[in-house]
Amino acid sequence: MNRVLGIDLGTTYSCVAYIDSSGKPVVIKNSEGELTTPSVVFFESPTNVVVGTPAKESATLYPDEVISFVKNRMGQAGAVWNVQGAERTPEEVSSYILKKVVSDAVKALQGENKLAPGETITDVVITCPAYFGIAEREATRKAGEIAGLNVLNIINEPTAAALAYGLGDVNEERVVLVYDLGGGTFDVAMIHITPSSIKVICTGGDHSLGGKLWDDRIIEYVAQEFARQTGSTEDILSDPETFQELMLSAERAKKMLSARDRAPIAVNYKGERARVELTREVFDSLTEDLLERTMLLTRQMLEEAAAKGYSIERIDEILLVGGSTRMPQITRRIQKEFSAPVKMFDPDEAVAKGAAIYANRQSYFAQLIEKTAQETGKSPKELREEIRSGKADIQEMARQANLPTDVVGASVDMNIVNVTSRSFGTIAFKSVTPQDGEQEEVLFNMILKNTELPARRVQEFYTVAPNQKTVTIRVLESLSSEEMADPCEGTEIGEAVLELPDGLPAGSPLQIEFLLNENGLLELTATETTHHQEVRARFETADAISEADLSAAKQRLADAMVL
Ligand code: AMP
Repeated sequence: MNRVLGIDLGTTYSCVAYIDSSGKPVVIKNSEGELTTPSVVFFESPTNVVVGTPAKESATLYPDEVISFVKNRMGQAGAVWNVQGAERTPEEVSSYILKKVVSDAVKALQGENKLAPGETITDVVITCPAYFGIAEREATRKAGEIAGLNVLNIINEPTAAALAYGLGDVNEERVVLVYDLGGGTFDVAMIHITPSSIKVICTGGDHSLGGKLWDDRIIEYVAQEFARQTGSTEDILSDPETFQELMLSAERAKKMLSARDRAPIAVNYKGERARVELTREVFDSLTEDLLERTMLLTRQMLEEAAAKGYSIERIDEILLVGGSTRMPQITRRIQKEFSAPVKMFDPDEAVAKGAAIYANRQSYFAQLIEKTAQETGKSPKELREEIRSGKADIQEMARQANLPTDVVGASVDMNIVNVTSRSFGTIAFKSVTPQDGEQEEVLFNMILKNTELPARRVQEFYTVAPNQKTVTIRVLESLSSEEMADPCEGTEIGEAVLELPDGLPAGSPLQIEFLLNENGLLELTATETTHHQEVRARFETADAISEADLSAAKQRLADAMVL
């Protein structure tokens, strides 16, 4: 086996998969015997950290030491939890989840003699919502780094799900709509699968819309019912213990309603008790607007897909992924809206399995390139370019290197094409040449949302003042699909400063190049074209964890026992 793992680092649950000796992706159970691990971290002491179901169950007793839904804060500036004497960033909290799921997986594989005792795995691919921007992706990568992992790549959840699906018996071409409703995020994507490629056409979604909001509606309803039944005017939700208990019972009731028509919920508050009977009908009406929001986002994504030549009629199948799609109202609603058949596809495991497939392919390619480089004397960069341009025949390369020509059921030259989920641009003046007079600032989007990756664009801009010394190129990401957008629609993610030679007149041309690679990393090059002065900048996000915080977090994790 290739020593790689695929990790679905979910808002509510995480899951790990590997590729077994027959080439099939398989989910690995954690040490509690579960296929998915609650993404909940309990800092029992500074050096004792518990992750998963025991942590989730400790939330009622230790609400201040237990952290849930960390993914919702990923990549957010200033997000920290002060727990057990340290300020914990989302990167650090997530690193404990990664540490737990990977070490449990390694132990399980050792137990099954698939790994030798003492042998470990550090190469992983982690998934994130398609909707994640650069800061969130970078934070996910850093979480892996803190956990001591070598993150080969961060890939989109719907792409991973399609990859797992595409490996099934899809021998013909088909267009699928992936509707992925997890615990904290909603992703929707249109994906074109052929026997030799998986191409993401369009993505959309909302990273704060997930099963948790369905739970919250139950909690609010139960609190109102408690007040009605007992006549109490107290806010029972302000009591952390009652709230934590209700969070667990609301989720239990929601899951029960996926199979039955009613679910009982018991409430205890300062010795007073109430029993609330929630029916599926009431639950559906309490949460109808949330479901409608997913439909609205789906329609918006479909409009963009239509503009790229993929109309609704082209959808062959709708795949439901993510634990929350088990709620029967989801299938019903989608069936009402679309005529394509709806299929629930391995809702808890598909994403981790797809990540494992991707990790396996990536590690295979690294091996292929390394072997071929040794044999031919060509550089890895050169070989990658030959593969990308189609100059090299990968099948032949694999034969020469004595490597299999099939990787996990697909041919080695299967192409995986992704799109960017955000637009990237810079602030410019609307009238590009100063002679036009007016100087209104606009967000000029160089690369538009849903453009195929890698994406490159070169654009000419002009200096505004005579003898201008520098030009600051501010880079913003946004969800706007317009080339010229309002600057307030964007979020600044970094900047590059271009030093200019003396004596340039106003209106001197500057060439700016944006290159967004397959992994969503942005590179920027600016050239002053009169004298060919160049600045190159790679975008570290403005909200990235500092080096000092990163090494402190690594030290704390190294000193801790993670259970
Ligand atoms: P995921 O992030 O894909 O693991 O999805 C987790 C979400 O799915 C959580 O909000 C769970 O409460 C929810 N979920 C899991 N099983 C069910 C079920 N049977 N019915 C409704 N929701 C579920």
